Amino acid sequence: MRCAILGDIHSNLQALEAVLKDAHSYGCEEFHCLGDLVGYNANPVECLEIVRELPGVCVLGNHDEEAAGSHELSKFSSQARVSLEWTRSKLSEEHKEWLMGLRPVRQIRRTTLVHASLDSPTSWGYIRTSEAAEFSLACQHTPLAFFGHTHLPGIFIQGENGGVIVGDGLQLPSNKKLFINPGAVGQPRDRDWRASYMIYDEESGGLWLRRLKYDVKSAREAVLDAGLPQKIGDRLITGT
Ligand code: ZN
Repeated sequence: MRCAILGDIHSNLQALEAVLKDAHSYGCEEFHCLGDLVGYNANPVECLEIVRELPGVCVLGNHDEEAAGSHELSKFSSQARVSLEWTRSKLSEEHKEWLMGLRPVRQIRRTTLVHASLDSPTSWGYIRTSEAAEFSLACQHTPLAFFGHTHLPGIFIQGENGGVIVGDGLQLPSNKKLFINPGAVGQPRDRDWRASYMIYDEESGGLWLRRLKYDVKSAREAVLDAGLPQKIGDRLITGT
């Protein structure tokens, strides 16, 4: 089975469509989403309706939780808050129910999926260092786990310092647990604007980081046309 692992789509329809086309061309049969399907960009309804029909599972992200809720959004930056309020106004009750039904952690065969961290999945902490990753790895019961939330691609290997960035392909070590971030489909933050996702081949144990050019200008224009903050559109161009 070849799977596409999609993190942080964030309502970016142009990026999602490019990624799905690419994943299909590589023979992916399952599509797993690491949460933050909505928030920030201009197409929450379209992205949700595409993702819920895909074969695969989706876990809950902090933006999904808030977009489906109704309480005050004090913990978020002003950009995120404006966009979440806008997203709430676009989603139907049925969309919100679907989001609220997502679980924070899912296991698919020998792989675990989570949005932020495994030691405290709904505290929404950011795993940016090997030290932080070790807490998650200690709670990981499968050889592989995929996470998102930081929007930064990389791999943390249990007991080893420093993250690894994968490029064209990597044969995964079979004797160590790995905590892997495929980067963000819809809002990369590593100063590379291209959509980021991973392909994992269960039989061969191969893992590929894919970076794809997509119609980022249209994604930015859609943000502006929706009346969302210009900064949200601009950061798509800079990959920040
Ligand atoms: Zn996110």
